[in-house]
Amino acid sequence: MTDRTFFRPIPLLLPLLLFCACSKAPHAPPPEVSEAEVWSYAEQSVAFGNRCSGSPEIRKYADWIRKTAAESAKFKVYPQPFRDATPRGDTLFENIIAEIPGRSRDFVLIAAHYDIKRFRLLRNFRGANDGASGVAALLGMISALQKDENMPPCGIRFVFFDGEECMNEYGESDGLHGSRHLAREWEKSGILKKCRAMILLDMIGDRDLTLTIPENCTASLKEALLRLAGESGFRGKCLPFGSAILDDHVPFLEKGVPAVNLIDFEYGPGNAFWHTEEDTLDKISASSIKSAADLALRLCWHIAGD
Ligand SMILES: [Zn+2]
Repeated sequence: MTDRTFFRPIPLLLPLLLFCACSKAPHAPPPEVSEAEVWSYAEQSVAFGNRCSGSPEIRKYADWIRKTAAESAKFKVYPQPFRDATPRGDTLFENIIAEIPGRSRDFVLIAAHYDIKRFRLLRNFRGANDGASGVAALLGMISALQKDENMPPCGIRFVFFDGEECMNEYGESDGLHGSRHLAREWEKSGILKKCRAMILLDMIGDRDLTLTIPENCTASLKEALLRLAGESGFRGKCLPFGSAILDDHVPFLEKGVPAVNLIDFEYGPGNAFWHTEEDTLDKISASSIKSAADLALRLCWHIAGD
């Protein structure tokens, strides 16, 4: 009699215990991007040639990015064309936005620039790292999310910025055109309030990858990123950088959006490959792009609270 009394509550307790365990179980982890795919995206990007803002090459490149992103049926893909003053006069730019809904109604912005620096003298500048690597990472994440059977924990808006590179010197009408325009437009329309955070990827393809996270990033995101990189098999180094970097995350930081910039600001010995004709495909690797993209998705899941 004593034994039966002792055991009787267990069938009642078991479902309750299971329910508690399930309610605290983490959701499915983010999907991993494919190395083969990101490499193909990087190669195809570089093949478009001199993709500087306002060029015929970047128009063709923008069409390809939109078409490639739109192959993922779960995504709504659309251009955001706009004109802006530049040192070379009024110029037509186009951001590209690819959005996927998530389990919550707010979203994380994951971005990279797709324009490359214009050089009058460096005719063979191809921007394999400074341009193509970020685009390849974003397209790789879009493809991985398309194949994933789970819905992301929050919405994700992938944005390919035009006009990141300045023509002469960064200022009110030179450089960061796409990010300044998007931050302004989203503030006007109220969309910015739903943006939980921004994750920016720039120059993440270096074969010898060390992410140097600049000072001007939101402290909690930087800490989370460094921790996740340490915990999650990130194939590279991830370190705090001793100074601020002006990049596409700044217009969002200035409007109060938490933001972090995944950037490797040491490209080649003494940064010798940065903004030179040495920025070619042989200096970057698929595994660097993949590991930065995987880290970005893990950070996104962390921001969403999973
Ligand atoms: Zn650059």
